Amino acid sequence: MNAFQRFEGVLHAEAVSLIDLAAEFGTPCWVYSRQAIEKAFDEFQRELPDSALVCFAVKANSNLAVLDVLARRGAGFDIVSEGELRRVLAVGADPRRIVFSGVGKSVAAMELALQHGILCFNVESAAELERLNVVAGRLGQVAPLSLRVNPDVDARTHPYISTGLKENKFGVAYAEARALYRQAAALPHLVVDGIDCHIGSQLLDAAPFTEALDKLLRLIDQLTDDGIELRHIDLGGGLGIRYHDEQVPTVEAYLRPLLDKLAGRRLRVLLEPGRRLVGNAGVLLTQVEYLKASEIKNFAIVDAAMNDLARPALYGSWHQIVPVLTRREDAGTWEIVGPICESGDFLGHQRQLALAPGDLLAVLSAGAYGMVMSSNYNSRPRAAEVMVDGRQAHLVRRRESFDDLIRGEQCLP
Ligand SMILES: *Cc1c(COP(=O)(O)O)cnc(C)c1O
Repeated sequence: MNAFQRFEGVLHAEAVSLIDLAAEFGTPCWVYSRQAIEKAFDEFQRELPDSALVCFAVKANSNLAVLDVLARRGAGFDIVSEGELRRVLAVGADPRRIVFSGVGKSVAAMELALQHGILCFNVESAAELERLNVVAGRLGQVAPLSLRVNPDVDARTHPYISTGLKENKFGVAYAEARALYRQAAALPHLVVDGIDCHIGSQLLDAAPFTEALDKLLRLIDQLTDDGIELRHIDLGGGLGIRYHDEQVPTVEAYLRPLLDKLAGRRLRVLLEPGRRLVGNAGVLLTQVEYLKASEIKNFAIVDAAMNDLARPALYGSWHQIVPVLTRREDAGTWEIVGPICESGDFLGHQRQLALAPGDLLAVLSAGAYGMVMSSNYNSRPRAAEVMVDGRQAHLVRRRESFDDLIRGEQCLP
């Protein structure tokens, strides 16, 4: 069952009306469905052997309630910063279920991760390998690591979210990985544990994943010849979701060929899905402030903006926008824009909707890379976040106040 459905014409999150949510928490407001998150997570768990670990990519949605729901379900976490590490520790996640990705890990973040004994550092360069060895040595520890190998496959997605090509900043070059593994194995404060890759985001085709895996397996066999035995393989995230009319692979269609290729190898499987777990589990609820007709275009100015949902302005992403209560009147064609002083501040172009001022709209599929990318541009407080669980709605982050906006600032003496 879809978590966002209409009952008597009114869009609901599970059993709660979005009209009621807007009245209680105001707009703009992010609304998440607990059930939708759990269902998306279970789809992965169902296909995987017990030894596997699904590490939610925290950068997709780092609200504590989201992390907590996933942690309780048995998820691990893929983090990219000290802040994300502190978030997952704050919800009591098991450090042995945390992997640490990212090209720019700071010394402080490495130290904290080592002190807590995380599962693995996904190392992305020779320089990082050196730093990790030094930091671990200073703490009298041995750091478990995996090399993020760049398999140089074309994930056929938006260039800003494609990460597995040679020209990307991510990972170590395929041709250099073998030598780097030998180097890692020789360093005293490191222990080689696995290999990982992450080739891009919003992938709608399973082929690039198997292509990448084939390359990784070839490397793993070469490492075996070198006397380096890996214990795990981390295939990253990247599985796409439906925003519009995309044909999206099922989790099974994505995983089956990968698991078949891995059969007979004693490698623990790790995955790092982000978008697929939370993208369709959230909407951005907004209200129409003004309707403004011009000679060429009709603008519906809503109270959410690019500072809330950056994806349309940033990537030209398309999000479905639907009325919370459907009107009988004829639809017009609207530019759905926010109040920010930028022409790039839009949520949707040329949408067919019947609108009146005060109407509530839901921007769908906004659970991933939504609130986490929001800013205070134009001194707009960040919106509230609400999680619905059956008949209950919980405020999981209150709307920012003016005091929040100026916290830490001061005038000259
Ligand atoms: C962003 C990212 C992910 C998650 O990507 P999705 O497309 O949201 O699944 C996983 N691993 C790494 C290293 C990432 O940078």
